[in-house]
Amino acid sequence: MEFEPVIGLEIHAQLLTQTKIFCGCSTSFGAPANTQGCPVCLGLPGALPVLNRAAVELGLRAAVALGCRVESTSIFARKNYFYPDLPKGYQISQYELPLATGGHLTLPDSDIDIGITRIHLEEDAGKSVHEGYLDSDRKTYLDFNRSGVPLIEIVTEPDMRSSADAKAFFVALREILVALAVNDGNMEEGSLRCDANVSIRPDGQSALGVKAEVKNLNSFRFLERALDHEIARQHEVLSSGGRVIQETRLWDAGADRTAAMRSKEEAPDYRYFPEPDLPPLRITEAWVDEVRRSVPELPAATRDRLRAKYGLTRDQAEQVTQIRPGLAPYFEELVEASAPARAAINWTLGELTRKLNDEQTDEVGVIRERISPESLSRLIVLVERGTISGTVAKDVFEKMYVEGESAEAIVERDGLAQIDDANALSGTVREVLSQHADAVEQYRSGKRGALGFLVGQVMKATQGKANPKVVDKLLREAIDG
Ligand code: ADP
Ligand code: MG
Ligand code: ZN
Repeated sequence: MEFEPVIGLEIHAQLLTQTKIFCGCSTSFGAPANTQGCPVCLGLPGALPVLNRAAVELGLRAAVALGCRVESTSIFARKNYFYPDLPKGYQISQYELPLATGGHLTLPDSDIDIGITRIHLEEDAGKSVHEGYLDSDRKTYLDFNRSGVPLIEIVTEPDMRSSADAKAFFVALREILVALAVNDGNMEEGSLRCDANVSIRPDGQSALGVKAEVKNLNSFRFLERALDHEIARQHEVLSSGGRVIQETRLWDAGADRTAAMRSKEEAPDYRYFPEPDLPPLRITEAWVDEVRRSVPELPAATRDRLRAKYGLTRDQAEQVTQIRPGLAPYFEELVEASAPARAAINWTLGELTRKLNDEQTDEVGVIRERISPESLSRLIVLVERGTISGTVAKDVFEKMYVEGESAEAIVERDGLAQIDDANALSGTVREVLSQHADAVEQYRSGKRGALGFLVGQVMKATQGKANPKVVDKLLREAIDG
């Protein structure tokens, strides 16, 4: 029998606020343990939470960008469970009335639409740091710096049908959250993590199968691997006449498999009830409108537009909109300032990207400070006009970056203009020919490649300033007579 996988994701994203969701403690990552706490986020008796407006604003940005309906009233709720890193004995979350509901995200380059069930606000717990493997020396330390850091949880409909769909969704969602400056996308530090729910059902059956939930997947690869493994495992169970039981599983990256964590029966009863210390969260339509206006064009839309408007290839559009949010605007400003799109994209993905790699930064502003798009476009125009060669242009770019001078000034000062004049080049051409009689011989005897070598020698002798087309012509004339 053939089976179809069904997948729904629950994604936790840390919101990029300066301070925690219910107190003024810092959210910065990497501080010494337990240096970022106060009575509120340590859960001391009598301390009262005050909602951070910035967290709500970021939650709204995500909600609006994902096409959700923002609820005019949402309610915070206590989710009760015991764990040492949860000092209050409950997590403040939202349950019955979440911040937003009913959105969707279309997977890039497909018409697969994934429903977003809900987005709600909640606080993170602290962190347990385990040490030692033997019972005798096992210790657990608690770090409450993360306690009370704001999160949104994004829950999808069970709309994905393969691990590839799920991965594509997570990739696209991460890109959107980063573009919105809602989340830093850092999965290694745990600021973005995913639980995957998966079941399978016989082809043609509309009722959903029994699902397993794989917890805390913190990379795209783990998500895909864990789902593939889980789909195969359930397939095996059903094909051999067994039944899948509803349970929570953990991904063991080392062993490349999932392992049972707890069954439905062992699932905690969270005894949700409305948080008495926080009033209902009311959001006006005016606020939602304001947020809607501030949401930038999303990366997928930017890619479509760049391809249509500037004739970029799919690859180019992807590269220029990925990782570095400032790159696409820089490219567009280059074109607006008169660089041809073809050259502008080559510079953006070539020299600019190389420079950012050298400087080990994703901040395009670092380049912009020294070389504005307008200024780089003038360098590009010098190449287009043939005033300087492409090779020289790279050196000029470097000098512009270091010295902050204009392209024209550097070309003028250092005498870098391309030499087109046949008379000016003929001496060098003669010299190269006499120094490399063997290459001339090879060329005469039919080895066409030898000409390229000779052109290269002339270029070298002129520090890259000779116009290679003119050199090529002069060499042919000299040899062929
Ligand atoms: P639970 O009560 O176990 O948390 P929910 O109904 O809240 O389950 O759904 C949690 C996630 O699991 C959602 O992303 C949802 O789309 C997904 N999901 C629900 N039922 C199934 C199923 N049978 N197979 C796969 N995914 C499912
Ligand atoms: Mg759930
Ligand atoms: Zn605090």
